[in-house]
Amino acid sequence: MINGSLKTLSEALAKKKISSAELSTLFLDRMARANPALNAFISIDREKTLAQARQADLRIAAGQAAPLEGIPLAHKDIFCTEGWLTTCGSRMLANFVSPYDAHVVSRMKAAGLVTLGKTNMDEFAMGSSNETSFFGPVKNPWDTSRVPGGSSGGAAAAVAARLAPAATGTDTGGSIRQPAALCGLTGLKPTYGVVSRYGMIAFASSLDQGGPMAKSAEDCALLLSAMSGFDARDSTSLDRPPEDYCRELEKPLAGLKIGLPKEFFGEGMAADVRSAVEEALAEYRRAGAVTVEVSLPNSGLSVPAYYVIAPAEASSNLSRFDGVRYGYRAPEYTDLADMYCKSRGQGFGAEVKRRILIGAYVLSHGYYDAYYLQAQKIRRLIANDFALAFRHCDIIMGPTTPSVAFAVGAKSNNPVEMYLSDIYTIAVNLAGLPGMSIPCGFGEGKMPVGLQLIGNYFEEARMLNVAHRYQLATDWHMRMPEETI
Ligand code: GLN
Repeated sequence: MINGSLKTLSEALAKKKISSAELSTLFLDRMARANPALNAFISIDREKTLAQARQADLRIAAGQAAPLEGIPLAHKDIFCTEGWLTTCGSRMLANFVSPYDAHVVSRMKAAGLVTLGKTNMDEFAMGSSNETSFFGPVKNPWDTSRVPGGSSGGAAAAVAARLAPAATGTDTGGSIRQPAALCGLTGLKPTYGVVSRYGMIAFASSLDQGGPMAKSAEDCALLLSAMSGFDARDSTSLDRPPEDYCRELEKPLAGLKIGLPKEFFGEGMAADVRSAVEEALAEYRRAGAVTVEVSLPNSGLSVPAYYVIAPAEASSNLSRFDGVRYGYRAPEYTDLADMYCKSRGQGFGAEVKRRILIGAYVLSHGYYDAYYLQAQKIRRLIANDFALAFRHCDIIMGPTTPSVAFAVGAKSNNPVEMYLSDIYTIAVNLAGLPGMSIPCGFGEGKMPVGLQLIGNYFEEARMLNVAHRYQLATDWHMRMPEETI
């Protein structure tokens, strides 16, 4: 059961081999055992989860089951969840109980999924290692001396340790794909606008996108079908007909053209990552795909451009946290201005403050043209690079991360080095394209390696097909860390 696919769990529930309450209890018990060591969850509320599971059981008994009825699912703590603490990994929101559900959360409820808890994350989704959370670092279940990746590190650790069958995540510069890679999971960031951002606490609005983190591409396809769709409450939500992302899963790969950006295969990729990625590409060739070299000449500028654009948007988005309406308020202050200063000074952690400062700087009069405008121009060039590359291939592949999971503390004092761990993922967000990471082997220290798939706009179904066929031929995605078996 703990390693079961969503399809297997769904069948077991439909055939009444197990009830949702029993299944939820199984995972809640595992969470209770493993969470003290992993710190994957910020909020666990057994009673709330079981109450929802019992409702699901009633619907199953009444023959009114929704497609994923009764399956437990963990939500990243960036998603507003009615009646649950929603902290975004920050002291600023450590006391915030959401009065409403994010669009993603309500879609998941409508699909019958049961909320299993809220997962730990980097503060306001800023980080690549889950070490910036106010609630402490998350540990990688494959080796607890290492990071799980970030910012959806709690979600990744929870699914990798089989504390949850699947989870939601968000990806602004790699936060679904990077932790999925470092924890041996399958994670998908959709085309910008496919999943509503309503109720998803904003970091960098033009980049943020929610998506599924699960064991397999098939599970991601099921979850994405449930969470996507137009939402009038998000002005960037795309009004497109609903899609069944499972529809192309089985399609053979013969004739598939895989583009390999030469910039992704140069220096910077560790030898163990390179050999796992090369072996995965060989598997694709055996399945009838061909590989062609493509070029993304501006991709080297993606990290610097991102670290202008994302902080600029963050400095604006985070200005709402003022200690007045909700969230943290400093206990002592002299006047209104002092209350703002102290509340924000005490409520935000160091990385968030660094981003607010950078953002305010690059947007300020006199620097706007030199930084923000330039970064936006680079963003356009990067999108153009992808458009050209997709003239020569159906899908792009490369590593998700330059190395396997690093040790806790290894990069926490060097922000630039930390920022570079997203070197292969960030360009995808700047272009608004869909991207995925799938497990493709193990490297140094027996740590998982991720293969990144990048599709053209709205090509999620094809990308999931390409991932699924690989997962039919390999079993990397079914492996789990030893201690949790
Ligand atoms: N690691 C990147 C950052 O720190 C991306 C984070 C994300 O995708 N939310 O901003």
